[in-house]
Amino acid sequence: MKVYRIVQHRYIHACPNFPDGHAWRTSRQVVEVVESGPCLTPITLPGPGAVSIDCARRLREEHRCENCRVSIEVVRISLHVIVGGAAQ
Ligand SMILES: [Zn+2]
Ligand SMILES: [Zn+2]
Repeated sequence: MKVYRIVQHRYIHACPNFPDGHAWRTSRQVVEVVESGPCLTPITLPGPGAVSIDCARRLREEHRCENCRVSIEVVRISLHVIVGGAAQ
């Protein structure tokens, strides 16, 4: 399984609709990618000059082989609190 470790950045501010504050924007930063091995169940395309492709290019996540699945781990949530009337 290929693992993306990410830091999620949440930008918090308070505005008339959400006086207690809310996340008006979130973004993700990939900090580490743990590669898995090659595809275990490559698919051979029909036609001349048999070409095989990773199952990830054809199948939905749940049907892929173990190596082609992707997992996202949030390692940290970073809060950016904007105090006192942001321009937003
Ligand atoms: Zn707001
Ligand atoms: Zn695969």
